[in-house]
Amino acid sequence: MPSLASRCVTAAAVALALLVGLGPADPQVTPAVAGTAQLAGTVGTVASTASAPYTLLQKFGGSAARWNPCQTVRWAFNPAGAPTGGVTVVRTALARVSRLTGLRFQYVGTSRSTPGSAYLRQAWGAYRPLLIAWSDPSHSDLLAGTGPRHVGETRVGWVGLNTPLGLRAELTSGVVVFNNRSPAPLWGPASRYTIALHELGHAVGLGHVRSSQNLMGTVIPAALRDYGSGDRAGLLRVSARLGCLPALR
Ligand SMILES: [Zn+2]
Repeated sequence: MPSLASRCVTAAAVALALLVGLGPADPQVTPAVAGTAQLAGTVGTVASTASAPYTLLQKFGGSAARWNPCQTVRWAFNPAGAPTGGVTVVRTALARVSRLTGLRFQYVGTSRSTPGSAYLRQAWGAYRPLLIAWSDPSHSDLLAGTGPRHVGETRVGWVGLNTPLGLRAELTSGVVVFNNRSPAPLWGPASRYTIALHELGHAVGLGHVRSSQNLMGTVIPAALRDYGSGDRAGLLRVSARLGCLPALR
């Protein structure tokens, strides 16, 4: 699970200790943790109704792992393998997430990086942009062994620190990979757009729900064109209205 350099422990401890007004050596500040979380998506119909309006991808006490809304979320796009119009779908979906969360996404250009697990092996403080791409099981290990119903995978990296104020966890990077072996229209129900909304929901910190009314369903409801009320409630839990995160980086 942990994928980030262990030396992040010291750096994070110093940063947060200063924030809460404690000395860098304060014994109450315990070591940082780091890791990744990954979820997949399929499209279809489900019989169940919502058992919970939303879930969080990573939760520490009452605190959700989320991006720092006081910094831009940098993202890059690898066009190899993308369908025509794919980048427009991604941009539109990011704009929807931004509108609902207040997070600001900054496009930093194209990338040649493989959208796989190796991308998230990053040193403390040297986080790569959120990488978004279409790929297939033979190129992305995140899609290995999957079939065409498996529409995408998202993996995020996070860092956190136990403090007297509770654990603070920040999403620092991520990979969203769509399966280009999954045929779908660009727009409308069961489309690349709704799949993008689902995967980007993971990328900003949401988990799955057993729901036919929300795009974050374990199976993405094929009839939906946009986030449901539970999705939107979850997005508020990772939104800018919670304020800045401590300066972990
Ligand atoms: Zn999913």
